[in-house]
Amino acid sequence: MKFVIATGLLLLSCTSGFVTPHYKSSSALNGAKKDTYEVTLLPGDGIGPEITEATKVVLEKLCERCDFSLNLKEALIGGIAIDEKNDPFPKESLDQCLASDSVLLACIGGYKWDTNPRELRPETGLLKMRKEMGLFANLRPAKVLPQLLDASTLKREVVEGVDVMVVRELTGDVYFGEPKGIDTDADGQRIGYNNMIYSESEIDRIARVAGDVASKRGGKLCSVDKANVLDVSQLWREVVTSVIDKDFPDVTLSHMYVDNCAMQLIRWPKQFDTIVCGNIFGDILSDEASMLVGSLGMLPSASIGEDGPGVFEPCHGSAPDIAGEDKANPLAMILSAAMMLRYDLSRPQEALLLETAVEMALDANVRTADIKQDNDKCKLIGCKEMGTIVADLVETIDMPSVEEEKIAV
Ligand code: NAD
Repeated sequence: MKFVIATGLLLLSCTSGFVTPHYKSSSALNGAKKDTYEVTLLPGDGIGPEITEATKVVLEKLCERCDFSLNLKEALIGGIAIDEKNDPFPKESLDQCLASDSVLLACIGGYKWDTNPRELRPETGLLKMRKEMGLFANLRPAKVLPQLLDASTLKREVVEGVDVMVVRELTGDVYFGEPKGIDTDADGQRIGYNNMIYSESEIDRIARVAGDVASKRGGKLCSVDKANVLDVSQLWREVVTSVIDKDFPDVTLSHMYVDNCAMQLIRWPKQFDTIVCGNIFGDILSDEASMLVGSLGMLPSASIGEDGPGVFEPCHGSAPDIAGEDKANPLAMILSAAMMLRYDLSRPQEALLLETAVEMALDANVRTADIKQDNDKCKLIGCKEMGTIVADLVETIDMPSVEEEKIAV
């Protein structure tokens, strides 16, 4: 695909390599293309409001250019919701999310709430949102862009061409399992415990998502568990094998223990196409996979359920160390908005336009601090400027054609 920046000195062409996944099974797709969509925006904490503002500027330009409307209505989640409503995910936020066509979340958390009791922690709001909205599948693409090859701490030859999708189960496992708590035993010693638990149906549905994703990508699915030690992993392995063998004949399934997978992701990540795992293993491995790309600031994600709106959010946290300094990278949130357009709003062309604009901003040699290399000769810019540059590109570059889009889940 060729696109021309018509804004200034640069005349660039680029091959769009940043195509976010195309997965949503037909049962999970949210409906027809519309002229106007209701979208709940959850700016959250830390850098959240800054990256949200940058994303809004981009979406505004996108709507103008593509002649449709997004009614962006903010709601509270995380620390700010604790401060204002004494609840990390108040009912009014949940109701608003459920009534929306889609939800775009920035990030939550911060030092201020770190010592709060569990029910008043920002993360509790996130877990509540996932559970209440039935968001059982999290898709995290980790694709190494040629423009950012040197942003990775790994050697070029290891990361060049890496394109991994981690499909993480999101509503089960040790994060939600009961019983859990901290008790005192007969000797007066405190005991902390959580329960790692999966039902057959929970494994079955995430295996189907992963099978679908893998069949639309390279056809290779690696299921990650700890079946040599954990009973719950033995069931996981049995159910995944049965689902894939029976219903996804075009997918080649392999199994890997989580400790080995953690090593293999660093040793030779190109061996992976699609990885499926439970909640806690996926939490850790998807962050590890994201480091192949170089910065958390570049990584979008989609959380989807069987029906209802999905939640689209960057993989990173609230980065309290740089909050309020205009240093945050807004690209992960902009790319999350692209995933939202594709999955929930049936606007693949607009999604591609955003993704292409992000790549072309990188081609224009501008970088936020997290992706800037010492000797890359790129201009260091802030969050706001990055948003403006992407917005200008959205306004001016040639409209990509979806027919040419790579079907890369
Ligand atoms: P983090 O992702 O916030 O930050 C890790 C490092 O990456 C920091 O150095 C940060 O400056 C940098 N970073 C992250 N996003 C960036 C961006 N967009 N641009 C530039 N640099 C970026 O992880 P953490 O420090 O472990 O957690 C901070 C807070 O975020 C904690 O309260 C944690 O619970 C919360 N958290 C929230 C989410 C979420 O909202 N989904 C996810 C992870 C962590």
